[in-house]
Amino acid sequence: MSAPAIVILGAGALATARRIQELYVARDAHAAPGSVVECQVHALQGRVEADVAYSELGAHLRELYARGTPIVALCAAGIVIRCLAPLLSNKGAEPPVLAVAEDGSAVVPLLGGLAGVNVMARDIAAALAVQPAITTSGELRFGTCVLNPPDGYALADLGQGKRFVSDLLAGESTRIEGDAPWLDDAQLPRSESARLAIRVTPRVWDGREDELVIHPRSVVAAVVVGDAGTEVDAADMIAARVRAALGTHGLAPLSLAALLAPAASMADPALAQAATLLDVPLRFADASADHGESSAAALLHAALRVPHETVHDAANFALALSPLAIDPLTLGRARGRLTVIGLGPGRAELMVPAARTALNEATDILGYDTYVKMAGPLRADQRVHGTDNREEMQRARHAFELASEGRSVVMVSSGDPGVFAMAAAVLEALEASQNDAWAAVELSIVPGVSAALATAAQAGAPLGHDFCMLSLSDNLKPWTIIETRLRHAAQADLVMAFYNPISRARPWQLDKALGIVREYRAPTTQVVLGRDIGRPGGTLRTLTLGELRAADVDMRTMVIVGSSLTRKFARGDNGAQWVYTPRWYE
Ligand code: SAH
Repeated sequence: MSAPAIVILGAGALATARRIQELYVARDAHAAPGSVVECQVHALQGRVEADVAYSELGAHLRELYARGTPIVALCAAGIVIRCLAPLLSNKGAEPPVLAVAEDGSAVVPLLGGLAGVNVMARDIAAALAVQPAITTSGELRFGTCVLNPPDGYALADLGQGKRFVSDLLAGESTRIEGDAPWLDDAQLPRSESARLAIRVTPRVWDGREDELVIHPRSVVAAVVVGDAGTEVDAADMIAARVRAALGTHGLAPLSLAALLAPAASMADPALAQAATLLDVPLRFADASADHGESSAAALLHAALRVPHETVHDAANFALALSPLAIDPLTLGRARGRLTVIGLGPGRAELMVPAARTALNEATDILGYDTYVKMAGPLRADQRVHGTDNREEMQRARHAFELASEGRSVVMVSSGDPGVFAMAAAVLEALEASQNDAWAAVELSIVPGVSAALATAAQAGAPLGHDFCMLSLSDNLKPWTIIETRLRHAAQADLVMAFYNPISRARPWQLDKALGIVREYRAPTTQVVLGRDIGRPGGTLRTLTLGELRAADVDMRTMVIVGSSLTRKFARGDNGAQWVYTPRWYE
C-alpha cells in the first residue's frame, strides 16, 4: 500500500500529524533506494506550512481519494464524509480513509474496509496510545478482516464470504486448509472438527456454502504467439485458450497471477488486450526452447524463480502452478511505457484526465522540478528524476532507457507537450536510435491545454479566427527564420501567439520582432498579455500594439497580437473586458 497523505487544516493538528508521519517514514526506510519515500503532511495554504500545500480541502480530499491515496485527515469525521460523499456512490477501489482528532485522542476508520483501513487505525492508535474506534464486527471479534486477504490472494466470492463471516460471528468455528500465513495471528475460533473451513486453493470453488475459498495467485500462463498474434480476434482467442486450459485443470481464473510472453512480442497489441481480458499483468521473458521443452514451457522455466510444476504444455502454450502465490513483479519484466504529457497551464482542473491517469500509473516521472511539483502530489513509491541540468535530447534518451527496463515513465511538459516542448525531442530520439528495446516501448503522447489557449480563453476569444503560434526563441533556430516568419504572419493578418517572448539571454529580440509586426499592423491592434495563467498570482492584461513595451513582458508571459479584426469591448456591471476575433472576414 502506498503511504498515506496526512491532511491538516490548522496549526493545532501539526504535532499529531508529525507523530503519525513518523510511523510511516520509519516503515519506508525499507523502500527501494532512490525512491521518494516520505509520507507527507498536506496543509491548508495560508493557515499552516507543512510538506504539501493545498487550497481547498474538499477538492484536495477528492483528488487524493480518486487517485487511490490512503487519507488520514486530522479533522471532524463529518467534514471528511461530506467532502467525499459525491464520490462514494461510485463502486470501485476504495483507499483507506481515517479521521483522527487533531489532539490525537481519537482514531476513526471511515472507509476502505477491504483496503486495510482497520489495520491502519490500529497502527496509528497504537502510536498515539489510544483505542481505535473500530466498528467492523468481524474485525472486532477476530482481530483481522478475513475477507481482505493480502496481495497475491483473491477471495473467490464476496457474497459467500460475508455469509461465512456471519456464521463465525454467530458462534461457529472454522478449520483452515492450505497455506494462510496471514491468518496465524488472527483470533479466529479454530477447530479441526469444525463444519466450516477456510480453504486456500487454486482450485475452482465448488459452491459449498460451508467453505470460504481464497485463491492464491499461483498460476502463470505462457503464450508464444506467431504471426497470428496480429489477427483481429487474436486477443479473444488467447484469453479463451487460457480460460479453457485453467478449466481443464480445475483451476480458478482468479488463481492466475500473470500472462507471460516472449520479449520479442512485446509490441503485440493482442497480448496486451488478452491480459486485460484476463485481468492480470502481462510480463515478458527471453528463452530458447531446449531439453525437449516447448518454447512456452521454456519461457516459464526461464522466468519463474520459485518451485513450480508445468501442468499444461502444448507447443505454444503452457501453464505452470506453484505451491505459493507468485508476485508478478518478480516474473520477467513488463513492457515499458513512456507517456509524454502536458500539464496544462498550471491549475489541476486544466489538466486532461488522461494525463492524470498516466501520472497515477507512473513509476518514474521526469521533467523540470517546477513541472514535477505542479504534477504532484505524487505517491511515495514514485521516483522523480530531476532533469534540470540535462538538455532535451539527453532527457528524452534517459526516458527511453528507463522505459525499456520495463518502467512506466511519464515525461511532463507544461501546457501541451507538442507545443515547443518535449514530445518532438522524444520522437527525434526514437527515430535516431537503433535500439529495438526502445522501439518496443509503449509510447503515447497526451495533449494538454497550451498557454496560448489558456490565455485566449481568459481574455475571451482572440484566437477565434486563423492564427499561428511562434516561438521567439532563437536558441534552437536562427533569428533570420524568426524574422521571415513574423513578416509573413503579420502580412497574412494572422493572429499571433508568441511563446518564449523574451529572456535575460535574449533581451533585444522582442523589440525587433514588434518592430516587424508594426510595419504591417496599426498601433490600435489589440494585444493580450497573459502571465502565469492558471497559476497562483496569474495576471491578464489587454492593451494595444502601440502601448506594448518589451518591459511589459517576461519569460512567463504569453503575448497574443490580434489581427486587424480583433476587437475589445466591455459589458456588464463589473466592466469586464472581452477581446475576440470574429469568425467572419470582409
Ligand atoms: N508547452 C508549453 C509551452 C512551452 S514554451 C505550452 O504548450 O504552453 C514556454 C513559454 O510558454 C513561456 O515562455 C511562455 O511564453 C508560455 N507559457 C507557458 N506557461 C504559461 C502560463 N501559465 N502563462 C503564460 N504563458 C505561459
